[in-house]
Amino acid sequence: MAIHLFNTLGRKKQAFAPLIPGKVGIYSCGPTVYDFASIGNFRSFLFADVLRRMFEKNGFAVTQVMNITDVGHLVSDADDGEDKLEKGAKREGKSAWDVAAEYTKAFVEDSQKLNIEVPHVSPKATDHIAEQIAFIQDIEKNGFTYVTADGVYFDTSKLEHYGQLSGQSLEEKEGGSRVAIGDKKHATDFALWKFSPAGETRQMEWESPWGKGFPGWHIECSAMSEKYLGLPFDIHTGGIDHIAVHHENEIAQTLAARNCLEANFWMHNEFLQIDGGKMSKSLNNTYTVGDLEEHKIHPLSFRLFILGAHYRTPQNFTWEAVGASHAALGNIRNAVRDLPKPSEVDEESMTSFMERVNDDLDTPGALAMFYGVLNHASMERSVKSATLLAMDAVFGLALEDVVARPLTIPSVVEKLVADRETARSNKDWKRSDELRDEIATLGFIAEDTADGQKLREVW
Ligand code: AMP
Ligand code: ZN
Repeated sequence: MAIHLFNTLGRKKQAFAPLIPGKVGIYSCGPTVYDFASIGNFRSFLFADVLRRMFEKNGFAVTQVMNITDVGHLVSDADDGEDKLEKGAKREGKSAWDVAAEYTKAFVEDSQKLNIEVPHVSPKATDHIAEQIAFIQDIEKNGFTYVTADGVYFDTSKLEHYGQLSGQSLEEKEGGSRVAIGDKKHATDFALWKFSPAGETRQMEWESPWGKGFPGWHIECSAMSEKYLGLPFDIHTGGIDHIAVHHENEIAQTLAARNCLEANFWMHNEFLQIDGGKMSKSLNNTYTVGDLEEHKIHPLSFRLFILGAHYRTPQNFTWEAVGASHAALGNIRNAVRDLPKPSEVDEESMTSFMERVNDDLDTPGALAMFYGVLNHASMERSVKSATLLAMDAVFGLALEDVVARPLTIPSVVEKLVADRETARSNKDWKRSDELRDEIATLGFIAEDTADGQKLREVW
């Protein structure tokens, strides 16, 4: 079945053709590990995960690389301000290295809770300093650099097609720019290597042919994507904020050093907003996966929430909306738990589902297909469980842990249920309610049905 994806490079939906038949290489811009990743950041990583799962479901062998930015991402995208890692270190009274290790670990744990598949390679910028220096040397050899008092810069005026990703000319970009350009020749020029400030020892700094310092933010992605995927590769992902600066500059670096377009497809997710406004670490109004859990929202419920909007439309986060997704996933889990063991997949439903998924990841459309099967009145129930599981390979709601797996009820809970049965037959409603509360603290909801009490998981 044909796969169509919206390519930011060219701004249209295109039929996807892999560079190597049956294979796809994806590079996803990963987290800057100076703080917890926000649920906004996770919208980006969930989008990349669903993209990967879509290819896997279509039978492709996927290689996904996601970098860990642990040096060089400055507070301002315009190459000035503090390094985010050094800022995090000051905030927490720890070393930049410890901060990076701590938040990398938190990122991996949060990703796991969201059932995000582990990237095949997760390279750290600080582990690839030599590769980045070599890449800068090649850019320099080809005549695209100049050196200022504070670093080695890329001269964007030397590159014929600078601006192709955002569709802006150099003049347009410069005209719209409000940043002070310092010693740079053009506002769009960007740092490849920054010198450590004179008389100051940074926590993270390395020797280089140009002087002691650290790499610019963009070079890690050019160097590490080449190392792990080769050039060109199929797809590069990230949030829309990366289009105009980070990805534009990655493309420029790889063109300058290798005369090669880095990736064929450039895919970008729109932002997750909060209560209708901007969410950003710098505005300090972000939520984390830990915050979701504190609000009794399961991370997988947030995953369902994200699937409910197309990745190319802005999505508004409210506690009410994510609460509704949480209730919906509870109901899905409840319904599929009662299904029998999976038999064969209903191919017609699956085809309609994959048509939605392969059409630029239309997850809202695919969810409608999923609910159609879940609520189907006459479909064979074992076919239903097989089909829902097959669909969930793309959604990643971890239904394989639930489908056709009746709850295991501990004997203490069984005893309380029996006691409650007795209380109810004695019309002792007060005792019955107390027992219901006690059962709930053990993770089960006792529902009173025409056939007596039925237990559900607390979700
Ligand atoms: P960072 O950790 O800042 O390097 O960002 C990691 C990823 O999250 C990047 O791809 C960003 O474009 C993306 N991102 C940042 N904020 C949001 C947001 N509010 N909604 C969706 N994606 C975001
Ligand atoms: Zn990147």
